[in-house]
Amino acid sequence: MQTQRLRIAIQKKGRLAKECQELLKRCGVKINYTGERLVVHAENMPIDLLLVRDDDIPGLIMDGVVDLGVIGENELEEVRLERIKLGEPSQYQLLRRLDFGGCRLSIALDKDQSYNGPQDLANQRIATTYPNILKAYMDKQGVSFSTCMLNGSVEVAPRAGLADAICDLVSTGATLEANGLKEAEVIFRSKAVLIQREGSFSEEKTALIERLLTRMQGVIQAKE
Ligand code: ATP
Ligand code: ZN
Repeated sequence: MQTQRLRIAIQKKGRLAKECQELLKRCGVKINYTGERLVVHAENMPIDLLLVRDDDIPGLIMDGVVDLGVIGENELEEVRLERIKLGEPSQYQLLRRLDFGGCRLSIALDKDQSYNGPQDLANQRIATTYPNILKAYMDKQGVSFSTCMLNGSVEVAPRAGLADAICDLVSTGATLEANGLKEAEVIFRSKAVLIQREGSFSEEKTALIERLLTRMQGVIQAKE
C-alpha cells in the first residue's frame, strides 16, 4: 500500500526515541507528539511518523511497509540474520549512520572467572536477546555453546543459575559491574542508523528524502 506521504518508523519510547524526535525537529519537521497515537502527521511536510517498538522497525523496512526507519544496528543485524534463517525478505539500504545510540554487544561472565579467549566459552550456556549475532560470532570462532533466550533481565541470568555467561548491550559497563560481571569480549559495535526500504520511490518522495538527508548532514556536522 503506497502512500503519497513519506512514512518514517521511529521508536515510540526508549533510548532512541528522544534523539530521533530531536533530529527530525532540527531537520525542520514539525510534529506534535502528544497523545498515544501510532501514526502522527508532520504539519509542514508530507511525512507520517510511525511510533513503534524498536524491534518492529527492521521488519517494517524489509517488508516495504514503511519508507525510512531509525534503528540501532544491533537490532537491525539481529532481525536480518533471523529473516535470512526463515527465508523472509531481509534487504534494506543504509542511508547514514547517526551520532547517537552508541553501544556494544559484549559477552560477559562472572568477574572472578578466568578468561583467556573465546575457547574458554566452549560448551557454556550464554543468556542473550541476540542469539543470531552471538551464533554468527561463535561460529566464526569455531566454539560451540548453548543459548538461553531472554528478552529482559539478561544480566541476572548467571546469578540466577540460568546461564554461565551473558551476551548483552553495554554502554558504560555499570550494569555489568552492579551484577558482579566483567566484559570479556566485544562482538558487535552499534550506533543508530537511518535505513530505507528497497524498491522504487516517486519523484516527490525521492526529492523529500534528498532534502532530509542534506539537512541531517548539516545538523550532525553542526554538533561535531
Ligand atoms: P522497545 O520498547 O522499543 O522494544 P527496548 O527496551 O528494546 O525498547 P531500548 O532499551 O530503548 O530498547 O534500546 C534501544 C536501542 O538503544 C538498543 O537496541 C541499542 O541500539 C541502543 N542503546 C544504546 N545504549 C544502550 C544501552 N546501554 N543498553 C541498551 N541499549 C542501548
Ligand atoms: Zn526493543
